[in-house]
Amino acid sequence: ADETEAFVARQPRSRALGSRAGHLAGGVTSNWQITEPQAVWISHGAGSKVYDVDGCEYADFHGGYGVSLAGHAHPAVVAAVRGRVARGTHFAQPTEDAIVVADDLADRFDQPLWRFANSGTEATMDAVHLMRAATGRDRILKVEGCYHGHHDSVEVSVLPEPDDPIGPPERPTGVPDNTGIPAAIMDLVTVVPFNDVDAVERALLEQGDEVAGMILEPIMMNAGIIHPDEGYLAELRDVLHRHGALLAFDEVKTGLTVGPGGVSRALGVTPDLVCLAKAMGGGLPTAAIGGSEAVMSLIADGRYEQVGTFNGNPLGMAAARAMLTEVLTPAAYEHLERLRDRLETGLQDVIDRHGLPWRVVTAGAKGCVSFLAEPIRDFRGFLRLDDRYGHAHWLVQHNRGVFLPPWGKVEQWLLSVQHTDEDVDRLVVNCDHLASRLVT
Ligand code: PLP
Repeated sequence: ADETEAFVARQPRSRALGSRAGHLAGGVTSNWQITEPQAVWISHGAGSKVYDVDGCEYADFHGGYGVSLAGHAHPAVVAAVRGRVARGTHFAQPTEDAIVVADDLADRFDQPLWRFANSGTEATMDAVHLMRAATGRDRILKVEGCYHGHHDSVEVSVLPEPDDPIGPPERPTGVPDNTGIPAAIMDLVTVVPFNDVDAVERALLEQGDEVAGMILEPIMMNAGIIHPDEGYLAELRDVLHRHGALLAFDEVKTGLTVGPGGVSRALGVTPDLVCLAKAMGGGLPTAAIGGSEAVMSLIADGRYEQVGTFNGNPLGMAAARAMLTEVLTPAAYEHLERLRDRLETGLQDVIDRHGLPWRVVTAGAKGCVSFLAEPIRDFRGFLRLDDRYGHAHWLVQHNRGVFLPPWGKVEQWLLSVQHTDEDVDRLVVNCDHLASRLVT
């Protein structure tokens, strides 16, 4: 309660803007901007910091839900966007930057053909459509607890509250994650648990000739962080291919953040399709879908019309080019890994010293405190996390100059190439403060 009071006391201007926003539905521009006790209105960002309208400075570990891998106003991104904006920002015709971006992504992700879109939702929607178009089948397999954006086929069994998941763990019943999802669409989605190839094989034996493919986050990132078991992804690809079905990796969150070529490259498993968004645009709304010749030829020859007025938008392409060719260098990844190690070690030390039943889980520049001592292998395991700590951790960090993503146990922090040791240490010290108060 005292942390909530302190939060409110620090933010009178945010509160005033919230009261002025009567014509914004819900007072914000996306439901996930609603934070408790009130929304935080931002003034600007610079380097690793964001500043709210009340003048408070935060080391930004929110990263705009996994976007700000470059940090804020990175000179290379600013120069690229400035150079483009003065020469016109939209023509609905390709610009040369798109070639450089596609070449770079082809190299990083080992996928020969690429197209662009504007959000992760669009990229995963294209992936689902392409799997259906390529196989002539309608059903998709999706993993319980994976989030792929807000289109019909994938808003199924995403973030249910503990009471919601139904059906046995090895054969979950699909539940809509939003209103407005037609029952007819739900009938075309089979939900399977993460890290369970047998469940996928069973679904394929029962429904194989209906299944177009499977979409999943290769490291689950919307349920804390859940790593795949060794061999899981490669086995998935084999079993799907044996049944004539395809595999799509949703690397919207993991893409460039866990390493230069995402999970695909880190674990050496190349899927049929890969979806990117978030960090690739350096803060601009840009997304990409890459894939094999066999699947992407459907786009090339017009059998699948991958279209969009803003696809390959020149501003987004200029920013993505700067991200890929100037920001995300091998030295940048070394810096991120060093900071990751410092943060992981610092937090684990706090947890051990205070004897808390928590763990630190990381994947490249992303990480989280998991409020459970045991490792988690799937979404039902994640639901066992102690939910009391997520929000308390967020508030304590926020009141002491660290902006974490607001969804307590669900979300992860993101380091940026502009973060420093001091930023990391601030997060560790604040966690120590919370831990001391919990154990006394
Ligand atoms: N896929 C994953 C794994 C995501 O985490 C998200 C968003 O958080 C999306 C897709 C949807 O991306 P967007 O919000 O850009 O539509």
